[in-house]
Amino acid sequence: MESIQAVKGMNDILPDQIGWWHFVEITTRKVFESFGYREMRTPALEKLELFARSIGESTDIVEKEMYTIADSKGEWLALRPEATASMVRAFIQHNLQADPLARKFYTIGPMFRHERPQKGRYRQFHQIDAEAFGVDDPMLDAEVMYMLRSLLQKLGLTQVALHINTLGCTECRPVFRERLTRFLEQSANRLCPDCQRRRHANPLRTFDCKVDRCQAALVEAPLLLESVCEHCALHFGQVKGYLDDLGAPYVVDPRMVRGLDYYMRTTFEIITDRLGAQNAVGGGGRYDGLVRDLGGPDVPGIGFAIGMERLILLLQQGQPSPVRTPPVFIAVLGDTARHRGFLLSQELRDLGLEVEMDYEGRSLKSQLRRADKLGSRHVLILGEDEIQRNEAQLRDMREKTQTLLPLSEAAAELRKVATVPV
Ligand code: ATP
Ligand code: MG
Repeated sequence: MESIQAVKGMNDILPDQIGWWHFVEITTRKVFESFGYREMRTPALEKLELFARSIGESTDIVEKEMYTIADSKGEWLALRPEATASMVRAFIQHNLQADPLARKFYTIGPMFRHERPQKGRYRQFHQIDAEAFGVDDPMLDAEVMYMLRSLLQKLGLTQVALHINTLGCTECRPVFRERLTRFLEQSANRLCPDCQRRRHANPLRTFDCKVDRCQAALVEAPLLLESVCEHCALHFGQVKGYLDDLGAPYVVDPRMVRGLDYYMRTTFEIITDRLGAQNAVGGGGRYDGLVRDLGGPDVPGIGFAIGMERLILLLQQGQPSPVRTPPVFIAVLGDTARHRGFLLSQELRDLGLEVEMDYEGRSLKSQLRRADKLGSRHVLILGEDEIQRNEAQLRDMREKTQTLLPLSEAAAELRKVATVPV
């Protein structure tokens, strides 16, 4: 019979890879919690309207990348394509602005977008997402970017750049939008069919287009950064000032617009030149009107998301895989030894050691071969004669030495010599 394969673009993460994921997750939790962020977990499925209203109807994500489902009552649902909308929904729904301890949140989990799968681009992928509510001061913008940078540094990732821009506010962006629309009218025949459409629906999106001739047509385009209002210019200047004070380098990228409509003022991306076309590792920005637009209080917010697959692809280029402490191995010969070994392994696990043993009655030679493959340094050999005398052999696989010891001392001795796994 033909076997069933996973859905295209959705990957299994196998045990030989999981060490990277644990390393990234543990480091994230440590760094984010030191900045006062608390974890929240929201459902993978939400009402479709949540994403349409927040990300924007005329964005790539909402127009063509979402997995939507009509449930049996005809209500439209969607697998989340990103986390910010859900985090904001939860913030509003649980009235979290009333909780002085809960202003900064993070979440780690799978996201879904129907895109063409390729290296660094999948249909189920994972994001690390952080959101901070309630502060519109530029100091927080700088701190959020600094936290992102701290995480990347703690992970050992240095070959990435922080790109920043400002997208203006509800005062200056509409004025600029008019200007850009006029410019695009003149160059309309040079734009791709998608941008022809975006030109009216969402002209800023044209900056995000990956088609070369659109980028060429935009070389002379007016830039928002050059025409933002006084407030936005001041805010952006202060953000840059704080980043300078923190010694965090950045590149001002006036053409970076981000693929979601809810951003305003500060936006940023982490860019790499080591993943081919998939050059964005993470991105985020300020979304001061979003909580209100989704029916909540008028509370400002700022956040970012990192793509974990891309992050791990980058980590794998530079570092050996995180090592896992190999298990202690119990080799047993004969039924009595097998039974003693079975009891002893549980005792050792209670002490915090990782233990493997042979259940199938194989020869000593093949058991030692397996211990070697597992990378075990310490093997406790329970032979038939030793068991009769209540003794065991402790073999050091690296030094190739063997010591005889009383069985009653085996647990204490192993605990002493074998490293306790984290
Ligand atoms: P891109 O321009 O590469 O499509 P994006 O702007 O759509 O990225 P965001 O919405 O900003 O991406 O999501 C934040 C991060 O999530 C990205 O920087 C990337 O690392 C990751 N990401 C986004 N889409 C995918 C995907 N389909 N597969 C894997 N990772 C993704
Ligand atoms: Mg995208």
